[in-house]
Amino acid sequence: MKNVQQPKLPPKSSFSEWYHELLAAAEIMDIRYPVKGLYVWPPFGFALRKNIYSIIRELLDNDGHEEALFPLLIPENEFMKEAEHIKGFEDEVYWVTHGGVTPLEMKLALRPTSETAIYPMYKLWVRSHADMPLKLYQIVNTFRYETKHTRPLIRLREITSFKEAHTVHTDWDDAAKQVDRAIELYQEFYRRIAVPTIVSKRPEWDKFPGADYTLAVDTLMPDGRVLQIGTAHHLADKFAKTFEITYEDVDGEQVYAHQTCYGISERSVAAAISVHGDDRGLVLPPEIAPVQVVIVPIIFGNRDSNEAVLSACTSVRDVLTGHGLRVKVDDRDEHPGSKYYRWELKGVPIRIEIGPRDIAGNSVVMVRRDTAVKQSVPIDRIAGEVLDCMDIMLADMYTAASQKFDSRIFDCETLDEALELEVQGILRVCWCQDPHCGHEIEEVTGLRMLGIPVGAAGSGVATSGCCVVCGRDGVATLMARTY
Ligand code: ZN
Repeated sequence: MKNVQQPKLPPKSSFSEWYHELLAAAEIMDIRYPVKGLYVWPPFGFALRKNIYSIIRELLDNDGHEEALFPLLIPENEFMKEAEHIKGFEDEVYWVTHGGVTPLEMKLALRPTSETAIYPMYKLWVRSHADMPLKLYQIVNTFRYETKHTRPLIRLREITSFKEAHTVHTDWDDAAKQVDRAIELYQEFYRRIAVPTIVSKRPEWDKFPGADYTLAVDTLMPDGRVLQIGTAHHLADKFAKTFEITYEDVDGEQVYAHQTCYGISERSVAAAISVHGDDRGLVLPPEIAPVQVVIVPIIFGNRDSNEAVLSACTSVRDVLTGHGLRVKVDDRDEHPGSKYYRWELKGVPIRIEIGPRDIAGNSVVMVRRDTAVKQSVPIDRIAGEVLDCMDIMLADMYTAASQKFDSRIFDCETLDEALELEVQGILRVCWCQDPHCGHEIEEVTGLRMLGIPVGAAGSGVATSGCCVVCGRDGVATLMARTY
């Protein structure tokens, strides 16, 4: 039996090294592709991505969205129509300028986001108030020429998994409701993968180019930096005016539609990995784990008992697969210890060990990945026990992550206090909403303003007080180091 040497991960306390090593060791991303900022999804990572995105699809589909697909290339004249929007993206756009050796009459942009690809079609599709709300989404790759340090799943030149929804409404209020609904769906999505989130309204200077306002969903990474993992934008009738998206209202008048757009990317995968992982590797919420249960036969060399063990493993696998679970029997000729190590690294939620003694007792050993707690389970109750354990595991993972998250939100009444704290998380201070003071807070603390908390993020705290810069009346705002 082989004792296979396994790579050793750096401790999670060295987060950046841990993250990069883990992506490679667990085969989530291969970063060796010869173009900066472009990475490869190997099968295990791709399976994880697929499971995560199937939750997004399910939530959107059940909420009346429909999936569609628009082209990657956007003609320059459409792309350049909305002035603020271009200004926000002009430094990041890749242009296609030639077809073979022939210069194109009109340059084509590789979508950095798809407003300008989708809205010329919405102009054709939206006719009457009866067509609304129109709620479409697509899951596509987008390209941005990032000049900052690129990082797999977090800062990319090819975002491979951009889920962008684009909705059209009769009026501003209905669009505002959709923005709130989008945020609810995103928070629901993140609860399903046990990632705690906080929602805030981005300050004017940090909203989506061309939007009326932007709400954002953030989470905290282990190094105390905030990762923006979802945004929803109210576009009002700005793009509708640019792209002439009008409809006939109940009185027969042609009026401009109101729009929203909202997006999530593979940063959701980065969050799931980073929030839950530990020194031994990935810890995956059961619903998204590519392998949910691994069965390891414990074999001692007696041929008859080996056969009995292997056949017990197969029948347990069949029972669990019959319940829709993704199960693997690891019967390779290796020491069980090496197998445990490998599957822990890959974050498999539940390990089942079956040896001759277990069979004699009509039981198996079940081990949880998150707590490493072992328990003996009667073999005829295995499916129910595994399913229950998965539910409990998800709830426990969310509770543990939420407690950690909440313990890293700090309230400060003065900027001096904030500076002394050297915040490893989110700082909450009072702000008068004047941009001058906002920039001052950012400059003095070296933190970025996330914005005024929305929903639960703002409850239970003093939401008003004196601005930490000018002393005028203010409201709580969130500050953090960000990715
Ligand atoms: Zn102020």
